[in-house]
Amino acid sequence: MTTLALVPNVALAPRTTLGVGGPAQFFAEVTTKAALLEALLLVKERELELTVLGGGSNVVVSDRGVPGLVLRVALAGLKFEPVADGFVEVTASAGENWDRFVAECVARGLAGVECLSGIPGDCGGTPIQNVGAYGQEVADSIVRVDTIDRHTGVSQTVDRETCDFRYRYSRFKAEWRDVRIVTAVTFKLRAGGAPSLRYGELTQRFGDRAPSLAETRAAVLELRRAKSMVLDADDENTRSAGSFFTNPIVSEAQAEEVEQRARARGLAAQLKMPRFPSSEGIKLAAGWLIENAGFAKGASFGRVGLSTRHALALVNRGGASALDVLNAALTIKRGVLEAFGVKLVPEPEWLGFGDDELAELRAR
Ligand SMILES: Cc1cc2nc3c(=O)[nH]c(=O)nc-3n(C[C@H](O)[C@H](O)[C@H](O)COP(=O)(O)OP(=O)(O)OC[C@H]3O[C@@H](n4cnc5c(N)ncnc54)[C@H](O)[C@@H]3O)c2cc1C
Repeated sequence: MTTLALVPNVALAPRTTLGVGGPAQFFAEVTTKAALLEALLLVKERELELTVLGGGSNVVVSDRGVPGLVLRVALAGLKFEPVADGFVEVTASAGENWDRFVAECVARGLAGVECLSGIPGDCGGTPIQNVGAYGQEVADSIVRVDTIDRHTGVSQTVDRETCDFRYRYSRFKAEWRDVRIVTAVTFKLRAGGAPSLRYGELTQRFGDRAPSLAETRAAVLELRRAKSMVLDADDENTRSAGSFFTNPIVSEAQAEEVEQRARARGLAAQLKMPRFPSSEGIKLAAGWLIENAGFAKGASFGRVGLSTRHALALVNRGGASALDVLNAALTIKRGVLEAFGVKLVPEPEWLGFGDDELAELRAR
């Protein structure tokens, strides 16, 4: 017998940080694994589509809404378990708020996630795109991810290697997309460890001094706040999905070509184009490309604009539709392609859209 209520026609915009889009055909929130399994059974019985929602900080919801069941996975609980060599394994249930988790780890002197302070959303959302910032990413400390197969209800724990984490990518964005639901994530953190200081803006701030984990967290939060990259109802740039495009990774030859185009536009002479070598290729700065293609911070596309503090964030300036967001993103993509020959790819997930609507935006 089922007891879980599927609530019809629930507005999704208020459940996302960008605040656009229509309703869920049905909505349910589950706080236990039993309820999650019950939801999966209902979906099967009624032949509904299923969309998982976490904190809603990396999604764009279609104006038509989302068909089928939108399931908020709100499983709660944190478990700290000392393991060998001064490490502690911390298991966070999927519905735990990410930044509260980081704050708790920092307060306990556990190093490994401090630079990821201030990122919105839930712990369960972090492996999906291998969340990263300020020189750290969750793939550095995740040891395993507990999942449930949405079709069979079977639980399976996958280790870090199997997840194939890369820059803003994991198998959860590929073949596991409509298969695995994350129920918990386990991180291996160093007790009493030093903070990770790999990012220029952070190292400059402390000079030769070795900061504590708490100081590092505070510095990251301050840097993020200055770029409107923390949620703050009083900040005019707050209604966003964070960085809207990933930083393109290109070959050495492509990077050369982009640089030549920048020179031809008279840019490189005044301003060096940022390029960062990575294991996957040369990473270019999407924000730099956007600004130097002619889209200044604060640029307006009707009810959508670029953040006044960060050229990479698209902001709902009030009353925007998902179509407004899509059109603004396409305008930027076309502008950067024309200026630099680089195809920007959006970072957020698009819920309730058809593949045809997104074909141009997703083209690589
Ligand atoms: C102001 C701001 C700043 C940000 N800064 C950063 C940053 O610095 N670095 C960064 O990497 N990201 C950043 N983001 C993006 C976002 O916060 C992260 O990607 C976050 O991890 C998304 O988690 P969520 O719970 O909100 O996921 P949602 O937005 O709810 O979902 C995102 C995707 O994950 C899937 N998903 C969510 N939970 C589960 C689950 N339990 N099981 C299976 N699939 C699931 C959803 O189906 C969807 O496809 C930022 C966003 C904002 C608004």
